[in-house]
Amino acid sequence: MEKMNTLIDEAVDWIQNSKHIIAFTGAGISAESGIPPFRGEEGLWNRYDPVTLEIDYFLNYPEKSWEVIREIFYEHFNKALPNKAHDFLSDLERNNKLKAVITQNIDNLHQKAGSKEVYEFHGNSSRLVCLSCNHRTPVSDALIKSSCPRCQCGGIYKPDFVFFGEPIPSDAYQSSVNASSHCDLMMIIGTSGEVMPANQMPLIAHANHAKIIEINKEASLYTTRINTLFIQGSASAILSEIENRLNYSSR
Ligand code: NAD
Repeated sequence: MEKMNTLIDEAVDWIQNSKHIIAFTGAGISAESGIPPFRGEEGLWNRYDPVTLEIDYFLNYPEKSWEVIREIFYEHFNKALPNKAHDFLSDLERNNKLKAVITQNIDNLHQKAGSKEVYEFHGNSSRLVCLSCNHRTPVSDALIKSSCPRCQCGGIYKPDFVFFGEPIPSDAYQSSVNASSHCDLMMIIGTSGEVMPANQMPLIAHANHAKIIEINKEASLYTTRINTLFIQGSASAILSEIENRLNYSSR
């Protein structure tokens, strides 16, 4: 407990004294909003076959793929609300401390919490994109109910997130590399660090001498690989405690 207090005090000190903070988030930040991560005890891959999210599988069997996607993403994600960890990051941005969030998540919860500068490394499930004409549209109940949602042009709609085997959207990639290269503090929150190339962003920040705070329930690939201030525990509990100790008005 004493050690935890010291770590949190140190994190608060780093945040107060940094000018250019970037957050790098993964599925763990949304776990307390009721969205299960892919990996770990409660992970989705214990129940579903990851092949459903391979682009070749989707192109060959869009209806089968949509059956699973509908259940995983639109039943869980649509009901979810931001938690205190998402709120913390939007407050930090509003107080001009946080420059941007780089997120691997596709659940739109940072935006729902009020974060403005969000780099969607893997896209966003709240939009669909037509595979024929590239038209993008917000998800609606009517579209999702159809066995295979289609655009007015007749093309098949795919959720506008990155499937396995698809490239990273170039704008999000460039913005993320740029932000990682220029931050003086990166906060890594709720990611296992296993997904390439997103997992390179903290390594870029570290190589450019940024301080790194890591918050996770378990040690990750980063914990031992780079020098982080590792605070072990749930993202919402730790970030709420940090927020309580931060004094925005005094700066
Ligand atoms: P991951 O599933 O590989 O790892 C999740 C990490 O979060 C683990 O290290 C775990 O220890 C940690 N964690 C779990 N609960 C936590 C909590 N309450 N507080 C702090 N940490 C917690 O997730 P990843 O690293 O983001 O990579 C998986 C990929 O899965 C990402 O690319 C993402 O696109 C996708 N994904 C996204 C969502 C979402 O949008 N919410 C959900 C599942 C998967």
